[in-house]
Amino acid sequence: MIEQFRGPILVVASHPDDIEAHCAGTVAQLVAQGEAVSYVLVTSGNRGTADLSVTAEEIAARREAEQLAAARVVGVERVRFLRYDDSDLLFHLPRLREELTAIIRQERPRTIITHDPYPGNGSRDSCAIYPDHTTLGLMTFQAAYLCSPGPLFYPDQMCSGLAPHRVTMLYLIMSDKPDTFVDVEAVWDRRMEALRKHRSQGRDHSEMEGFFRRIAGELGTRGGCRLAEGFRRLPPT
Ligand SMILES: [Zn+2]
Repeated sequence: MIEQFRGPILVVASHPDDIEAHCAGTVAQLVAQGEAVSYVLVTSGNRGTADLSVTAEEIAARREAEQLAAARVVGVERVRFLRYDDSDLLFHLPRLREELTAIIRQERPRTIITHDPYPGNGSRDSCAIYPDHTTLGLMTFQAAYLCSPGPLFYPDQMCSGLAPHRVTMLYLIMSDKPDTFVDVEAVWDRRMEALRKHRSQGRDHSEMEGFFRRIAGELGTRGGCRLAEGFRRLPPT
């Protein structure tokens, strides 16, 4: 039983496979214990290929299908795609913050899982300081704690029937300072099955298993178990 993550829970991620790489084991257990979990994918990874023969639309469609399949493996049915261009979030801050605020006011989550906006210097994992990740972490933080509760932020949203909403807690993935560890050993195979749905990313399965098992083992050592996912808990100010 995971007690820290109170539902409803919204997971806000930059790219298809971010969730599966960092928190799908936690999500699987939250769904199994009856929490409502939904996903928001801000990009569809429409530049995530080295294949010269496919278009951005084709790779996005493929990655959305993979993301839906991965969500189904852990029992998540509600997945929303915002379809910003991959790697361009930094250029869309005002629109992104407004759209995230509207989604939070619609979905009314108590907990949000998203990227860490300040994950250190990236010495452990350059993926953590990828601009889409840090940008989305910062915009989600602002939307959750600053904008959603304040009726003077985007008052047009009030006119269209939305109400202010206060999020109780953020949990940040890809952090170099995790302080919350979730034992995922019991759902490890399902977690890896979800990750393997992202076939377009062309990872070697046995290498991938070893890589993620090593990271989960390091986090588990800190969390007092064998295999863990790690989060930084960020309460409202
Ligand atoms: Zn990503």
